[in-house]
Amino acid sequence: MPNIIRIGVSACVVGERVRYDGSHARDAYITDTLAKYVEFVPLCPEVACGMGVPREQIRQVDCGGATRLIGYDSGEDWTDRMNVWANRILPGLDEDAICGFVLRHASPSCALMQGKLFSTKGDPPRRGSGFFAGRLMERYPLLPVETDNQLHTPLLRENFVRRIFVLKRWRELLSKGMQIGQLVDFHTRHKMLVRAHDLRGYRQLGQLLGESSIFNNAEIFATYGTLLFRSLALKATPGKNADVLMHAMGFFKKDLDSRDKQELLDMITAYKEGRVPLLIPITILNHYARKYDRPYLTQQFFLNPDPAEQKLLNHA
Ligand code: SF4
Repeated sequence: MPNIIRIGVSACVVGERVRYDGSHARDAYITDTLAKYVEFVPLCPEVACGMGVPREQIRQVDCGGATRLIGYDSGEDWTDRMNVWANRILPGLDEDAICGFVLRHASPSCALMQGKLFSTKGDPPRRGSGFFAGRLMERYPLLPVETDNQLHTPLLRENFVRRIFVLKRWRELLSKGMQIGQLVDFHTRHKMLVRAHDLRGYRQLGQLLGESSIFNNAEIFATYGTLLFRSLALKATPGKNADVLMHAMGFFKKDLDSRDKQELLDMITAYKEGRVPLLIPITILNHYARKYDRPYLTQQFFLNPDPAEQKLLNHA
């Protein structure tokens, strides 16, 4: 189990000159910031399936309901070669312990919902995933996946960062064997984090663990993992985060005087309204958690992320 987080990435966004015209699409956030905390596994589907550099541009075409990858001018069909390569490479991503994927947003192969699907009848192109991105999501529907441009949106970046670190911890847990006691500990430490993404999923996970005696460990772990990453796929918004902060504040209702309570409440409101970062109310809550000895709170990853996760979350 590698200690560093491995992230698959479209090779052009980390500066490899693999685009059709021999250029790259280097993204400064990915290469200068994210790269400090993760190990990239760069892939260029078009080069890997044999297209070479430079090459003719391709596009996705809807041929009677089947998506084909076709050369713009030559009409050469690359679909089968791309599928052969994808079939070979995709199973290995799990063995490589990949915890997420960053895709290039504008590409017939790598785009995630922002690609174009052309019609043979000359209709305007429809939006959808690139060919490789579609295969990736089909094989790993719960893998954290974002595009280079979406990582520049703070809310989407925070959600991606949270999810890759949870997946890393989940992989570590699985590598230790399927012990229910360890799963309960994992769940306890992720409660607030999951709650911030999906309150319903949070309750389902608690219910699943409550019924753990009627399933075998492999079933519990499989169901827990699916529910967990399905919940985390829902975005944690400032409103949902503020609800979790209010929940955490409830742990001090007998400790804080009315002035301290109001000050904390004001900070949570200021965060919800976008006037201060999440770090401000979290810092105050951590201070009270230590002062009034609330180990349940201090061990929450929502309040105390891994140091690398913390740095990425607080990157402006
Ligand atoms: S977008 Fe994907 S297929 Fe296109 S150059 Fe980048 S890595 Fe290669």
